[in-house]
Amino acid sequence: MPLGLPDVRVEEVQRTQTLMAATVSTHWQLQGCPDCGVSAPSRGRRRRVLHDVPHGDVRVRVVWRQRVWRCPDPACPRGSFVEQVPGLVTPRGSITGRAITWAIGQLRGEHATIAGLARRLGVSWWALWRLVRSELEHLAANESRFAGVRSLGVDEHIWHHGDQCTKGPK
Ligand SMILES: [Zn+2]
Repeated sequence: MPLGLPDVRVEEVQRTQTLMAATVSTHWQLQGCPDCGVSAPSRGRRRRVLHDVPHGDVRVRVVWRQRVWRCPDPACPRGSFVEQVPGLVTPRGSITGRAITWAIGQLRGEHATIAGLARRLGVSWWALWRLVRSELEHLAANESRFAGVRSLGVDEHIWHHGDQCTKGPK
């Protein structure tokens, strides 16, 4: 099954009846310290488990072997720092960006509930709602910017989705 994850390569995929776990990492490249630019030696990896879009009833986890570096300059305040892949997940997120996009599509088009989607992703209601709300606010801001004089229609649109999204856990 092609994973189609942006900016990473798949090292290994493990599957059971109910769960698929894909281990991913980026290609190596020389990394400079974000503060001082000195070339930074590797400090190994850290495993981040991310919740991804389910395939039917199969839950999907992305195990990201996130790179860690340390600035070698003792005078630099940076210390160690971790790799970021914005196309995959936000710096401290546990749900992939595309899973959040998927959840919003389900809410808008499929009349799904946050509770149902959280169950399918294997996350808590609040964990999903917090991310979906922030993404909806972001989308609403963009829509208002582009909609101009049609702001009333945009407001109704947002309220409609707000109603659907605020359905709490059963
Ligand atoms: Zn530095």
